[in-house]
Amino acid sequence: MTLRFKNLGSGSSGNATVVQAREGAQVTHLLIDCGLGIRELCKRLGQAGMLAEHIDAIFITHEHADHIGCARSLALRERIPIYMSHGTYMAIGEPDLEGLLNIVADGHDIAIGAMHVRPFTVPHDAREPLQLTCTDGATRLGVLTDLGRASDHVLQELAGCATLLLECNHDPVMLETGSYPWPLKRRISGGWGHLANEAAAAIALALRDSGLKQVIAAHLSEQNNRPELARAALAPAMGCEPHEIHVADGSNGSGWLTA
Ligand SMILES: [Zn+2]
Ligand SMILES: [Zn+2]
Repeated sequence: MTLRFKNLGSGSSGNATVVQAREGAQVTHLLIDCGLGIRELCKRLGQAGMLAEHIDAIFITHEHADHIGCARSLALRERIPIYMSHGTYMAIGEPDLEGLLNIVADGHDIAIGAMHVRPFTVPHDAREPLQLTCTDGATRLGVLTDLGRASDHVLQELAGCATLLLECNHDPVMLETGSYPWPLKRRISGGWGHLANEAAAAIALALRDSGLKQVIAAHLSEQNNRPELARAALAPAMGCEPHEIHVADGSNGSGWLTA
């Protein structure tokens, strides 16, 4: 059994991640978020060695444009089942998904081929946002890219993850002194916005006792963060050198990584 993943792009310019579970001859691909145009998404899938038709399911975490993107058109074109919360479905205007829609909720386990997925709620300013863990039965990958703070519930759901794709949205000083209007600064730094580097590091540290071995910094703000700041914050929490921390960027995402 192998669990691998590749981020295809991360941040406000568009989020998408492919997770691959392999058990014997059975290979399952889950696309988490679809926040790109369909042409760009297919191009990046091609760079990952994949075609859109290889995707077995799409999971949408929440309705923000950098996550929903081309989800509907991709699902309908390729006839791919699409999973989201009821709140997310309402927030996107309840479009006709031609029988492909699967409503999911906090704590409801889903089996998709060789993969098991477990969504959980997070504090974020969307209607019913979910983040998730994926496992092939042996290894668990956590995805946590949009939240204002780590609730106890979030930490409980992520316990046991070997790898975490973790939001490192901003450096507080860069956000504070940057050019964003004050209400936007307050939204981003608030408990329903996005994680600062230090808050992400605290999550990583809290999860190390339960087996966390690898963190990939994700959803970095282009205006309010720099990769070296995210690496510097996460490295002490993970007990490694800054250069050992992977950073998923907006246009290239990450390479294929083993969870
Ligand atoms: Zn969001
Ligand atoms: Zn986002």
